Amino acid sequence: MTHLEITQDEPAEATDGVWLTCIECGEHFPPFEGIRYTCDECGGLLEVRYADLPTFEDFGDDESAFHGGVWRYSDALPFDEGVSLPEGNTPLHDVPRLEDEIGVERLRVKHEGMNPTGSFKDRGMTVGVRVAQEIGVDRLACASTGNTSAALSAYGSRAGLEVLVLLPAGKVAAGKIAQASLHGARILEVDGNFDRCLDIVKDLADRGEAYLLNSLNPFRLEGQKTIALEIMEQFRAEEGQFPDRIVLPVGNAGNTAALYKAFRELETTGAIDENQIPKITGVQAAGSAPLVEAIEEGWDHIERWDDVETKATAIRIGNPVNAPKALPGVRETGGTAVAVSDEEITDAQRSLAEEGVGVEPASAASIAGLRTLRAEGVVGDDEQVVCLTTGHLLKDPDAAAEAGTDPEPVPADTDDVLEHLRS
Ligand SMILES: *Cc1c(COP(=O)(O)O)cnc(C)c1O
Ligand SMILES: [Zn+2]
Repeated sequence: MTHLEITQDEPAEATDGVWLTCIECGEHFPPFEGIRYTCDECGGLLEVRYADLPTFEDFGDDESAFHGGVWRYSDALPFDEGVSLPEGNTPLHDVPRLEDEIGVERLRVKHEGMNPTGSFKDRGMTVGVRVAQEIGVDRLACASTGNTSAALSAYGSRAGLEVLVLLPAGKVAAGKIAQASLHGARILEVDGNFDRCLDIVKDLADRGEAYLLNSLNPFRLEGQKTIALEIMEQFRAEEGQFPDRIVLPVGNAGNTAALYKAFRELETTGAIDENQIPKITGVQAAGSAPLVEAIEEGWDHIERWDDVETKATAIRIGNPVNAPKALPGVRETGGTAVAVSDEEITDAQRSLAEEGVGVEPASAASIAGLRTLRAEGVVGDDEQVVCLTTGHLLKDPDAAAEAGTDPEPVPADTDDVLEHLRS
């Protein structure tokens, strides 16, 4: 047994082989009785554990097998099915020009913007809302930089539950507010940044006013785990091996934590060896980079940044709540973390768009980060890399319009149009 494997002795607190464990002190808790997001004993983050993980037989051997979306992996989730729209099964794009320009052996882009509400948050919500039904709550809530609120609004209303979202005023992209609004959430615009919104939602949840569905909720991360499972299967089926590295944007570091958990579970069941675990590589915007700071300084915790700024509003977060799960993920897999400027993010957004892949700014951070790390020689030219693009271009139409070409007004006449084209 290696140190990455997960021990699985079923405690008395388990229900149908599922329980919660504190990652700090190891205390166990029942999964669906009593509502808790952190450890009663020490306040540490909780992780979902299973008595029986699937064997992941033929993992990545069968090209037809993985086309099932999130619930294909139900054996590695707390339930067999959930409130589904459906989510997952997103494309793994080829980007030959970028691959060439950046200079890696292979580059594929896992476009999570192709989920039902346009971001990977749907994978977490399909599981999280199912758990909320099991617990029997009637009001769901989240703090959000936008995409969490869009996903929660859609999945919550599908389930017939009330949804409350807290957004930082003036810092959420137009498409995301439109989604939350039309799906019928109650939207509170807070005069403060995302981290303050989350402080308030946590207080509301602690007072029993709502069930919290931010990524602090460990069940969200179970759904997001399937990003890693899909990448591994798709890449193996199409490229004949697992990727060496996965590069992703980091906000609250939920995905970073979820990827790491997926890899540990795959290793525990023997589906992959420790040396086949991809290097988890996180990217933050320079104006909002507490996790990068912690990796660079060698800290085992992050220091909250009170003032954060970036046009990549989805990752404008100064206090990544999942850092205690994510930092070991980056380190134990041999990955790293890097910060990129807003200009580099916009350049990467344009480069992806040239390949036909439309993403919002935060998503392009993955490509921008890979560019930087390749230029610095941290990423080798022999590596097989997957970049995760987390949200769709239409989420942030203002950023897209600013990065793209301007419309040219012309008269409604063919000759005038021709003249304009020639001038
Ligand atoms: C939520 C989100 C992120 C950040 O993901 P974390 O799991 O919080 O690190 C990145 N990009 C987009 C588009 C998002 O919506
Ligand atoms: Zn604890």
